[in-house]
Amino acid sequence: MKRFLHYIDGRFEEGSAQFQSLDPATGQPWAEMPEARTEDVNRAVTAAERAFFDPSWSGLTATQRGKLLYKLADLVEANAPKLAQLETQDTGKIIRETSAQVAYVADYYRYYAGLADKIEGAHLPIDKQDMEVWLRREPVGVVAAIVPWNNQLFLSAVKIGPALAAGCTLIVKASEEGPAPLLEFAKLIEEAGFPKGVVNIITGFGPECGQVLTSHPSVAHVAFTGGPETAKHIVRNSAENLASTSLELGGKSPFIVFEDADIDSAVNAQISGIFAATGQSCVAGSRLIIAKSIKDEFLARLKAKAEAVVIGHPQDMATEVGPLCSQRQRDHINAVIKASVDAGAKLLTGGVDCERDGFYFPPTILDCSEVPNAPCVTTELFGPVLSVLTFETEAEALQMANDTKFGLASGIFTKSLTRAHRMVKGIRSGIVWVNTYRAVSPVAPFGGQGLSGHGREGGLQAALDYTTVKTVWLRT
Ligand code: NAD
Repeated sequence: MKRFLHYIDGRFEEGSAQFQSLDPATGQPWAEMPEARTEDVNRAVTAAERAFFDPSWSGLTATQRGKLLYKLADLVEANAPKLAQLETQDTGKIIRETSAQVAYVADYYRYYAGLADKIEGAHLPIDKQDMEVWLRREPVGVVAAIVPWNNQLFLSAVKIGPALAAGCTLIVKASEEGPAPLLEFAKLIEEAGFPKGVVNIITGFGPECGQVLTSHPSVAHVAFTGGPETAKHIVRNSAENLASTSLELGGKSPFIVFEDADIDSAVNAQISGIFAATGQSCVAGSRLIIAKSIKDEFLARLKAKAEAVVIGHPQDMATEVGPLCSQRQRDHINAVIKASVDAGAKLLTGGVDCERDGFYFPPTILDCSEVPNAPCVTTELFGPVLSVLTFETEAEALQMANDTKFGLASGIFTKSLTRAHRMVKGIRSGIVWVNTYRAVSPVAPFGGQGLSGHGREGGLQAALDYTTVKTVWLRT
């Protein structure tokens, strides 16, 4: 069985314990993973703290930090096939998606490489002749970065990139589900030439590894992506040391289609909006809110496309929907669908486990227009399940879109520019896509509000969030 190691203080090492990782396509163990226990976490934090003050890192100029990040980006690109293959193997995410994603992971590192020497301070024009005041932007300190299983290389890149650009050091905790790609990525950190201890990569379970890491007094900032319930634990833990947090959490994103929309493009966007990543995506457009007048035509086309989606082995380039990451996910989805059907939701397609080994679940559509509070409408499923609601007026569409405690992403499909503007203004979400869905760029901030968290990843602001401002007064 393949064996992976932690990367702590520039050394590859075993964990205090081990656990097995399952191949989601077969449900069978395929690799032995290290498990970080309290002593491993403490060593990783100590290493990051020492490295933060060590001149080999703190003495670098911003341009030199940027050069290391450029090198890392090149190495990600050069190793893309291996990283993508490992992510597919360990999480079941299909190879055509992991391959595309590793390419933009390199783009994100390159963006933050370029940003390192553009994180500027300021000079303040104060009302005194004999005083100079300026602001220095300094790195916030040791960062704990915690990621979920669904997109580990990308979700860590949007933390590691800006944190290193700002001059921080990190302990990155890979999810216990599918940690292989991140543990492999540690080799690229080593090869790029970052001083030892600047980036430490470990994995382990929430109750010990995650808990010890986020409550550690030397951690200045916790950057977390995952579920809202875990986020509450993390905020409580980090509050003990008043560490700052950025939280990228779940979603129940509305996908609103007005009667004047380009139907073909809306259908295609909805198919990838919900079924890409087998629905295991925080921005999945999981609530279709559709104008009553076009519902039948739209659903007929959507159902036909959903049933034509190619379900297959995740390593096969032809596959469009692969397995879920775990049996836990499949059990959760089955339970919510059953409760929704019991409540009156109508199953239009899918809804039962695929008859295959592994954790497969087919594209599923539920008409919830008569039961808008069905569990599938209100719960984040994190699977290939679409709930359909209908509206007659724009006001109703907006009210339905905002009828959730989440606020991550939303999609609006209409040809009316004025309506698009009104909807953009009224909708409560951190990202709004108009006549498109799922577009991302290193330049554009990404994040949510409400139960979807706070803070932004991507863009300049993300790098500033890893800095603190020092106000300097000088009598002249
Ligand atoms: P999760 O919250 O169960 O786990 C996420 C990470 O937190 C894992 O590494 C886990 O080990 C760790 N963890 C668990 N308990 C902890 C604790 N007490 N202290 C510290 N760390 C702890 O999430 P998941 O099931 O792996 O992922 C799915 C969730 O992630 C969904 O809600 C999804 O929407 C969200 N997500 C959000 C985004 C975004 O950018 N907004 C992106 C992807 C996924």
